[in-house]
Order: sequence, then structure tokens, then C-alpha cells
Amino acid sequence: MTDNSQRLAVARAAYDAVPLYDPKRAPVDLDLTDNTNLWGIPPEAERAWRELPVARITRYPTLYAAELKQALAAYVGVTADMIVTGCGSDDILDSAMRAFGEADDLVAGPEPSFAMIPIFARMNALRYTGCVELPSHQPDIEALLATKPKLLYLCSPNNPTGALVARDTIERVLREAPGVVFLDEAYAEFAGVSSVDLVQQSDRLLVIRTMSKAFGLAGLRIGYAIGQPSLVMEVEKSRGPYKLNAMAEQTALAALQHDMPWVNEHIALAVELRERLADALRSRGFAPLASHANFVCVPVPDCVNVGLALRERGVAVRPFPGLPHIGDTLRISVGPWPLLERFLAAFDDVMATGRSA
Ligand SMILES: *Cc1c(COP(=O)(O)O)cnc(C)c1O
Repeated sequence: MTDNSQRLAVARAAYDAVPLYDPKRAPVDLDLTDNTNLWGIPPEAERAWRELPVARITRYPTLYAAELKQALAAYVGVTADMIVTGCGSDDILDSAMRAFGEADDLVAGPEPSFAMIPIFARMNALRYTGCVELPSHQPDIEALLATKPKLLYLCSPNNPTGALVARDTIERVLREAPGVVFLDEAYAEFAGVSSVDLVQQSDRLLVIRTMSKAFGLAGLRIGYAIGQPSLVMEVEKSRGPYKLNAMAEQTALAALQHDMPWVNEHIALAVELRERLADALRSRGFAPLASHANFVCVPVPDCVNVGLALRERGVAVRPFPGLPHIGDTLRISVGPWPLLERFLAAFDDVMATGRSA
């Protein structure tokens, strides 16, 4: 965390509260912490990446990734002028906050949710308020709307709970929120439902997606958002040109054009194995939350120490201590079953032998 006493005289005051991202990730044999695609990169995307002509690298990439926007538009079912791309959806969230928030404007979001939201708010000199979710794991809409936020963030399925935000909740937020609504659908592929169609009815809705999770391209940093042309244009201005690099654009294009059978097959597999992992945890007496994403969130007492003990056994999962209504929790990414079996074996060992190996 930032030590205010050592603030550089020329540093921006808003950055006092901005830490460097530190998820305490020493390298480990089996990393189930970040919900990326543990089956790997889709085959045609890998080929495109390997065969990218060197000339593409010596020259600048396309200004605004027009060709990729076309392919994403076809994938999502909108027109290309309703898409904006970015260097990961993190870049989209950051640029969009900058595009719509004046200094000191309020960003409101549910707690718990994506940990980067308060950080991006502070990076853009905005204020952030978190509103604790309801016991049903639905966002507390009354509380969120009562803050009258300039930017209201929702995440569906939510990270880290895996809960899907009810459709009528999103519709109500669109009717009643005073400003822009960000709907983060990083995991929508695993839920099989999306509210992206609502952009046709609202010029204040920005739906944020990524190729980091279902598409297996996290290392290339490809995010995008969908909204009315006038809305995405503002994000485009804020983000600036040349942000998507040439390798990312060509690889993403190949994935969208040629790898959809592979991608869909692995989405289905992730969903099947998510339920199998949840069953395995239930059979051990745990009560995982219903998940619509490619991870399982399971209440486990003393989760931080359990996480450390798992790390000693070569397996990393993400602990979330003291979640409201839930308590201590582990979030486990879903991947090929042999990897999940390794996690379960390490977990059983930790539960049987205690926390310190
Ligand atoms: C992983 C994740 C993202 C970030 O994805 P990138 O496109 O890799 O930046 C955004 N939102 C949520 C909720 C996530 O879990």
C-alpha cells in the first residue's frame, strides 16, 4: 500500500490512495486464481499469432482496430459503430471512467465485486462508494441508486460470487440511474445469457466484455465494450488511438473468425466441470455459491491460511476473507478436471492435516 508520508512532492493527491496491484502471487505450480482459460489458446488464434508477418510489428497497428470491431460486432450482434476496443477490459473501464467522470464525481458499485473498480475510480480522481450486496447476492439497487452516482457499476455474473444480476434489476437501473451504467460481462459466455441487447434501448448503458476469459487470450490484453455509437465514441476519445497492438488484433480476429467451435466447446466444458467441482465440494460438507461463471466461490473458514497451506502444496486459489453475508471464502478457477482433482487432493490434505505443513 502507499505510504503517504513518503509521497513525492510532485505526485497527484488522488494517487495517495492508489496501490500497485498486488495479489500476492508468487509463482506456483497450479494457478487457479485468475479465471483465465486453463485449456489454453484456441488453435487458429495460435496459428495467426505464430505466423504474424514481421512487417505488422515494424509499423503501427490500425488506429481504432476497425477490422476487429467488425468481427466483434458480428459476434455480439450489433453494428461496428457500437463497439470500442481496448487493452483489456481494464483499459475500457479506466478510459470510460475518464470519459464520463469529472473530478470528484461518484462511482458506485456493489460489494463485493471486481477489485479494480475502486482503484480505477481513484486513478481518475473520482470518488467510489461500495454498497453491500443483499443476502441473495443481488446488488442492493436501492442503496446504489440512493447515492445518485455519475457512474454505476454492475458485474454479471459477478466476480467473486458468480451470481447473475436479475434482468429486471438491470432494466430498473437503466430507468432510474442518473448517469452512465457500466455492466461488466467478463463472464457472460459462461452464463449463457447477456443483457447486451439493452444497449438498443439506452444511450447510457456500456456493456464491457473481454477476450481474456472464454477466449483464452488474457496475455494479449483484448477488451471491448458495446453501447450506442455516441456513447462508445466518448470512450474511444478517452482511450486514444493505437491502443490495441497488432498481434492482439490479428490473433483476436483469427479466434473470432475460425475458433468459435473450439471456444464454445470449452465454455460448455467449463460449465460442466464447474458443477462437478461444486458437487465435489458439497460432498465434503461445503456449500459453494451458485456460479454462472468459470469459477466456484466456496465459503471456507480461515480462508487466508487455507490459501497459504494450499500454496505450500503447489496450488493457488484466491482467498476473500470476511465477505459480507458469506464470511471467509475461496474462489477457484475452473479448468481441466485433472487440475481440479489436484486442487481437491491438496484441499483434502489441508483439511485433514491442518493449516501449516
Ligand atoms: C478478469 C476481469 C476483467 C478484466 O479483464 P481484462 O480484459 O483482462 O482486463 C474485468 N472484469 C471482471 C469482472 C473480471 O473478472
